[in-house]
Amino acid sequence: MPLYRCNTCGGTYRDADSQGVSYFHVCPPLSDAEFSAFDPMTQAALYPGVTLPVDPVARLQYAHDHPAARPNARNENVPPGFQHPPRTADDTTPLDAAPMISDGLGRTVLA
Ligand SMILES: [Zn+2]
Repeated sequence: MPLYRCNTCGGTYRDADSQGVSYFHVCPPLSDAEFSAFDPMTQAALYPGVTLPVDPVARLQYAHDHPAARPNARNENVPPGFQHPPRTADDTTPLDAAPMISDGLGRTVLA
């Protein structure tokens, strides 16, 4: 079972655990440190429709309390409501892989 690194968040994972249980990677929201590393304009763009506090401490507190979605986040979950096209009961051809919600920046095979 290959080990992958998410090209968006840097997280490492396998598609299933040692018991064979499937894992679908979803990037976590931005950490305080990652938020702080952005310039104020980029920080503001992470919260459309919200006026962030000007004070840096209050701004970081807001971001801490309302973690922003990571830009280009990867979400390997299947979109809600997805169904493979209908087929006959005797059609045994393998199904195409189900789509994922977002590929983000992709992933890299590590081992
Ligand atoms: Zn990720």
